[in-house]
Amino acid sequence: MKKTDLKKFKQLLLQKRETMTDEISGITSRFDATLKEKTGDLSSHSYHMADQGTDAMEREMAFARGSKSGRFVHHIDAALKRIEDGTYGKCFECEKDIPVARLEIVPHARFCISCKEAEEKKKPPNIKKSKR
Ligand SMILES: [Zn+2]
Repeated sequence: MKKTDLKKFKQLLLQKRETMTDEISGITSRFDATLKEKTGDLSSHSYHMADQGTDAMEREMAFARGSKSGRFVHHIDAALKRIEDGTYGKCFECEKDIPVARLEIVPHARFCISCKEAEEKKKPPNIKKSKR
């Protein structure tokens, strides 16, 4: 892949990542508000707050990971890592270059279209998304 293309996709991925993390930080601040309500002015019990903080953080992380945007950020991060590695734009399966036109639509794509389709056919019918 050309360096100029890599730059373009990196930009695109970072942009998408920002949109997604904005969404997640919205979730985070809602958790913060809940935490503040819960702890109130119990500053004398601040040693408990560390525990509550960890708890809230864990719940938030679980929520972020479980949410669509959380998973999406994970995919974007993986794609950004591939840009650094120099493996970006190569199909995980057949190692051919993924067409730029496909990457423009799905910048975090790991498979070329034919491998993606083959992958989806391998899935059990109950998981497979049917368009019929
Ligand atoms: Zn492929």
